[in-house]
Amino acid sequence: MRIALILAAGQGRRLAADRPKAYVPLAGIPLLRRSVLAFLRHPEVDGVQVVIDPDHRRWYEQAVGDLPLPPPVLGGASRQESARRGLEALAAQGARQVLIHDAARPLVSGGLIRRVAEALAHHPAAAPALPVVDTLRRLEDGRPGAALSRQHLLRMQTPQGFAFQSILEAHRREAGRSHSDDVGVALAQGVEATWVAGEERNLKITTPEDLRFAEQLLQASPRIHRTGFGYDVHRFADRPPLVLLGVTFPDHPGLLGHSDADVGLHALTDAVLATVAAGDIGTHFPPDDPRWRGADSAHFLRRALVLLADAGGRLEHVDITLLLERPRIGPRREAMRARLSELLALPTDRISVKATTSEGLGFVGRGEGVAAYAVVTASFVEE
Ligand code: MG
Repeated sequence: MRIALILAAGQGRRLAADRPKAYVPLAGIPLLRRSVLAFLRHPEVDGVQVVIDPDHRRWYEQAVGDLPLPPPVLGGASRQESARRGLEALAAQGARQVLIHDAARPLVSGGLIRRVAEALAHHPAAAPALPVVDTLRRLEDGRPGAALSRQHLLRMQTPQGFAFQSILEAHRREAGRSHSDDVGVALAQGVEATWVAGEERNLKITTPEDLRFAEQLLQASPRIHRTGFGYDVHRFADRPPLVLLGVTFPDHPGLLGHSDADVGLHALTDAVLATVAAGDIGTHFPPDDPRWRGADSAHFLRRALVLLADAGGRLEHVDITLLLERPRIGPRREAMRARLSELLALPTDRISVKATTSEGLGFVGRGEGVAAYAVVTASFVEE
């Protein structure tokens, strides 16, 4: 079993943010959430454990409370102590290997995680690192002095991977001495370490400039597009109100359904889920669950949008077609697009809402119900 241990207990004051560093958003998603997701969805990682500052529980719940994680371990006064506490918590779980990662490196790639994991097959410790390309000089009396040989230097990154027992023992024995990373702890106890190619992209967010640079990296990354399709039908009930695409028709009979039966938002939710192949609305919100009785369907859509964002996806365009005899949609179309623009955080010129009758044919033609179709285009950072 290979567990990722993610350290998020630092304050990160150099970032000068209004919250602890791990919870600062990068393009809308907290650093910790990005780091956790990178490991959670990696096929070679079996579980993720986060270490937090006891004062950050509220931030933690907000950032990752909805993800399948065990309760966080409470960290200590230093990074090293936090790592040791995390390892002690994992000791009972039978982990064979551990990847120790700083939450402040949110752009860690799947390929880098794999390289570290593969190196652990032959070494008790493996970490990503980059060579130094700049000339390095000693600072002597405030002035540039003698040059240092670059050949003998490495810039260490995380995740740093270890055979579990050897790093646990090393951390226990080195508890009184200070090391700046876990490889340092391992080396001090005679554990042999190797390195694999790190990535510039796997930068550690420390200053506001780092955050801006990471945002630029994300923006400049090549993107691929995926299309999702959704379809839904609801039968008319006797009583108003009708809710379509978040807009209420107070005098028109409504639709039958467990939630508010907004057939348009249901089709749209399915289409968003389809872009990340995450099943359909019923997978996430079982119709027999009493929590969703009369629920605002916007709730379902928001959940689908979280799953899309977690997969690194960005909504680009939506196209919805409502199929019904009445009421007429035209007079309310702009209200629908405005409501969708709010819900999707997408400008209205990327939100198409169309409606058609079915010329009196079929169940729609007989006025028995409403059908809705949705097509969603989303883009994803290519890995
Ligand atoms: Mg439905």
